[in-house]
Amino acid sequence: MNNGGMENEISDLEDDVARRAAVSRTPAELEAIRTEVFGRRGGRLSRIMATLPTMPPAQRAQVGLQANQAKKRIEEALAAAQERLTDAEMAVSLGHKYDVSFPGTAPRIQPIHVLRRTLNDVAEFFRHRGFAIVMGPEIENEYYNFEAMNIPPDHPARDSMDTFYLPDGNLLRTHTSPMQVRAMLRYPSPLAILVPGRVYRRDALDASHSFTFHQIEGLQVDRGVTFGHLKAFARDLCRHLFGPGRRTRFRPSYFQFTEPSAEVDVSCGLCDGAGCRTCGGSGWLEMGGSGMVHPKVLREAGYDPENLSGWAWGLGIERMAMLRHGIDDIRVFSENEPAALDQIA
Ligand SMILES: [Zn+2]
Repeated sequence: MNNGGMENEISDLEDDVARRAAVSRTPAELEAIRTEVFGRRGGRLSRIMATLPTMPPAQRAQVGLQANQAKKRIEEALAAAQERLTDAEMAVSLGHKYDVSFPGTAPRIQPIHVLRRTLNDVAEFFRHRGFAIVMGPEIENEYYNFEAMNIPPDHPARDSMDTFYLPDGNLLRTHTSPMQVRAMLRYPSPLAILVPGRVYRRDALDASHSFTFHQIEGLQVDRGVTFGHLKAFARDLCRHLFGPGRRTRFRPSYFQFTEPSAEVDVSCGLCDGAGCRTCGGSGWLEMGGSGMVHPKVLREAGYDPENLSGWAWGLGIERMAMLRHGIDDIRVFSENEPAALDQIA
């Protein structure tokens, strides 16, 4: 047999198998083709392979190579046909409801949301210092949101809170502070709690404001608690979250439920204090309000302000996450754009 004849036979075999496998209708039909080609006795390709040792070396190498390539392609054609038959069989058993040959979509594994991770880090810091984590209701009544926090009815401070009121007279809490009184009513002193949660304000949405955001209320009440404790906790927390290079400062402020009161600021990580769009050119970013718990609030909760004192703060989780990750737009957190969150992760 000459070389060209053998080459033609192999390529004819390949074409023949490809054509028949493509239109095969049952697994048995495929198995018959497989035997016809690869069968030990009389298989068409097996026979060609068997003649190889009788060929001159040059021809043997060439025909052997071609036969091996044909073997590979025939196996692929049979495997593809097998897959097609299995899919068709499945489609029949599913009642033709699903196109099982349609490519699948890999499930998306989303990392833990950046706000949750920030919250977890703050919680870890305080847990190691003996604080308990408590949760409060997002729907509050006026008493806990305002009156108990020393904000009487008709007080102008209520306007500045821009409250969402519900038809039944309740409201969406404007801060996590209502849990101060709720916790003090429930637990005896000494008290050290952390209250993470969502709060609501009727703010217009822009790069640094949202109608909803998250706070972490910290509260420590005991004998002899001073403003010095508050400053130390704020400084250590900032170092824990942002690194030893970051500075904190306290700005005198005024809240109805603390006296004295202070805004806690941390140095801007984007410009390192030089001033940029995120920090409004000041070089500092507000983390939230703080101060010594007002004696009226302690008394409202049944604690004796003559013997007990405490500090409290409500820090913004979004602000902390923005600081840590150099994010300059608060809307990133609630839009939940996967590509944006991946960049933060
Ligand atoms: Zn800045």
